[in-house]
Amino acid sequence: MFCPKCGSVVDENAPFCPNCGAALGQPQAQQQQQQQQPTVIYQQTTQQQSNIFAILGLVFAFIFPIVGLVLSIIGLNKAKEMNGEGHGLALAGLVVSIVEMVIVLIAVICVVALGAAAISNIPTYY
Ligand SMILES: [Zn+2]
Repeated sequence: MFCPKCGSVVDENAPFCPNCGAALGQPQAQQQQQQQQPTVIYQQTTQQQSNIFAILGLVFAFIFPIVGLVLSIIGLNKAKEMNGEGHGLALAGLVVSIVEMVIVLIAVICVVALGAAAISNIPTYY
C-alpha cells in the first residue's frame, strides 16, 4: 500500500509510515469511546427552605405570645409539609408562647387581685 500522505510504499500492517511518520489509515484511530463521564448531577433537592413560621413563632413568643402561638401552630403545620423542617423550632415557639401567656395571665391575676385588695382596703369616707 501507499502512504496517503507522502505516497511512499509502506508495509500493509505498519501503523505508521516509515518515511513521513504519518499514521496510516487503519481505523485504529477509532475514537476510543469517550470516557463516559458519569454525570452525577447532585440534585439539590435539599433546598434548605427554612420554616419561616416556626422561626417567627419563636421570636414572637417572647414579644407577643398570642402572635407567637398562632405562628408556631402554623409553623407546626408547615413542618409537616416540609419533612419536619422547623418542627423543633415551632414546638419551642409553642411552648414559650404558652409559658409566656401563663406568666402574663398570672401576672394579670396578681395585679387584679392586688388591685382589688387595694381598692377594698381603701377606707370609704363617703
Ligand atoms: Zn508517508
